[in-house]
This record gives sequence, C-alpha cells and structure tokens, in this order.
Amino acid sequence: MPFSEIVGSLAESPTLKVTQRVNELKAMGVKVLSFGAGEPDFDTPEYIKNAAIEALNNGKTRYTTASGISELKDAIIKKLERDNGLRGYTRKNILISAGAKHALWNAVFTLLNPDDEAIIFSPYWVSYTEQIKTAEAKSVIVPCHAEHNFEPQMEDVEAAVTAKTRMILLNTPNNPTGAVYTKKFIKELAKFCRERSIWVISDEIYEKLIYDNKHHYSIAKYLPEKTILVNGVSKAYAMTGWRIGYVAGPEWIIKKMAMLQGQITSCPNSIAQYASLAAIQGDGSDIETMRLAFSQRRDYMVERLNAMPGIHCRKPNGAFYVFPEVTEAFEKLGMRNADEFVEFLLEKSSVAGVSGTAFGAEGFLRLSYATSMDIIEEGLDKIGALLK
Ligand code: PMP
Ligand code: GLU
Repeated sequence: MPFSEIVGSLAESPTLKVTQRVNELKAMGVKVLSFGAGEPDFDTPEYIKNAAIEALNNGKTRYTTASGISELKDAIIKKLERDNGLRGYTRKNILISAGAKHALWNAVFTLLNPDDEAIIFSPYWVSYTEQIKTAEAKSVIVPCHAEHNFEPQMEDVEAAVTAKTRMILLNTPNNPTGAVYTKKFIKELAKFCRERSIWVISDEIYEKLIYDNKHHYSIAKYLPEKTILVNGVSKAYAMTGWRIGYVAGPEWIIKKMAMLQGQITSCPNSIAQYASLAAIQGDGSDIETMRLAFSQRRDYMVERLNAMPGIHCRKPNGAFYVFPEVTEAFEKLGMRNADEFVEFLLEKSSVAGVSGTAFGAEGFLRLSYATSMDIIEEGLDKIGALLK
C-alpha cells in the first residue's frame, strides 16, 4: 500500500462528497437542486464580517496561543454560563480549534487507545466512525428508532457497554435525525457514565437550531468531570467556511488536547477567532431570524413529503435536516436501497440528497433544508413528479 493502513481504512466524507458532486454538475451547467451537505445558505452576518476586517486592519495576523485567544475563551465561558447554565469553567477549560470537526478529532484522538470502544448512536453523523478509526479504536453502534423519536434508550446503552468502553459520542440536536434529546435521558446517561467512569463527547453544534419550544440540555451540567462539550460557530452564525469550533472540559484533558493541536496545526486561524468573538458576543438576533426561516422550511418540507406516495417523514425538533423513511417509495420504483434512490433523484431530476446508509440507517433519505425556499419548492415538485 502506498499509504498508511489507517488512512487506507478511512471512507471519504459522504456529505462533503455530495457538495463536490453538486459543484461539478453546476460547473457543467446543470441546475442542481441541492439538499445535500448541511450548511446554512445565509451569508455570515455583517457585524461578524466587519470584526474580521477590523482584526486584519489591526494586524491580528500572527500565530495565536495554540489553544486560542483569551478574549474568545472568555466569551465562550460567558456563553456557556448564559445559554447552558454551566458555571466554573476558566480559560484553562477551553480549547479553540479549526471547526467542531477538528475539536472532535482532538478529543477522540486524545482519549482513545487502540482497541478501546466508543459507543455511537445510529443514525450517526458520518465523521464519528472515521475519526475513531484514526485512533485504531472501535465504534460500537447502538441503534435508535423512529418510534422513540430517535432518542437512545438506556437499556440499549447498558447492553452495549463492555470493559473496553471508553467513551460515548452524543449529538443533540442530532444530525441526521433532528432529534433533540430529553432532560430525562441526558440525566440518566450522566448518572450511568459517572458510575462506569465513561467519557462523553457531547457534540452540541446544532444547539441554536431548535423548534417547537423544545430545549437543549447539555450533559456537561450533570457530568462535568467526564464531559468534553463540543460546539462551534459554523451552524448558528452561518460561518461554515471560517472554521472555528471549541471544546470545554476538565483542565488536564484540555491541556493534552491543546498540546496535540499545537503540534498539528499551531493554532486556529487568528482572523476567524476575532470574527467568532464578535459572533458569540452578538445579541443573537441574526440567529433568531435564521432559526425562524429554518422552522418554516421544515414545516413546508414535512407536509409536502408526507403527501408523497411511499414517503413517511417525522417532524424533527432540531438541526436543519429532515430524515424521511423512503423504502416504500424506492421499492415501488424497483430499487433495492436508498443509495440507488439518491442516484436516481440526482440523475432524473437533479435533486441532491444524502442516503441514510451514510449515517448507518438503511431505508432513509437525508434532505437539508438549509437552502432557499425556491429550491425547496422546485426540488419537492420534482421528487413528487418522479414518484407519481
Ligand atoms: N458535528 C456535526 C453533527 C455536524 O453536522 C458537523 C457539520 N459540519 C460538525 C460537527 C462539524 O462542524 P464544523 O463546521 O464546526 O467543523
Ligand atoms: N456537517 C454537515 C453535514 O453533515 C457538513 C458536511 C460535513 O462537515 O461533513 O452535511
């Protein structure tokens, strides 16, 4: 093999692959209706861009401390207190990274030894399994089911834990299902992990995108000594390209993760850190405008999808994805699985989605509604026409 076994074992990110495919088709002049990779269609708010311009003009163009600038750490500490009721974090508990994805990898790689087990709930976000592979550890998949609104069940967690279980990866609000986990489950899981001395990596990147008066509960509140809370600015502030994410956790583990980051990438981008500072210190009105738009789009999508033959779609409470069951629809069309259905949609109607298979859930389709209402209407018209 011309490259390492670990890299050879990794799969390409299916969500990023869709973006690449869509861009290639667009470059060929095809009008693609993309419901693919999840990123807000909104532009980064003006006040955030201005903060970046100011940082540039003020010469904030050098390496920062490996773990990130103190001002941003302070703003994150205040945010965690204000939004999540989490007290007691100091600068030593915060590490700023190049996106939540990088933050997750730092955490996974710092905690896992070869052959350790990490529990992941399926449907799961595509990068968890691959990140775990880089540490030569093993993903143990615990399925969640539609009849439980895709919330994990404690008995399934208990059955999956072994002497090798080192961590559980939690993602609420969830990508791809949009599930928002209840306080009851979060508290029970915290109690269980404390008793068993299991780490929780809590991916809270969709925290700001919650509908129907549901609430986000961070497990860090109930298990601070064993939680690595992961969040970032990509989704809430329409800043996917800026690449800033962060973690909050116990000081000694943050120190190790910062050391790893210092060796791998020196520090996160200095200008983007100042932009993120403005974002997190903002009054939240832009987030609210985007959240309301997402909520309307979600309602529209769920209603229209459920009116189509063979499609069953739950109304998700969070994130910006719908995750309908499409088995009946593709079987009627003579197809064997959701992958074939996704190909068919792209070929016949230039509609791009992601097959549930990518998230470990056969028979489902993920459609992101972080796209304009015009695209949503046209895309759904086309899917509807194909299924008639
Ligand atoms: N976690 C989840 C569940 C995601 O969907 C994403 C998507 N980008 C990330 C983490 C990574 O976000 P970031 O852009 O901050 O790397
Ligand atoms: N997280 C988004 C998604 O699931 C963006 C792509 C990625 O980061 O993998 O589509």
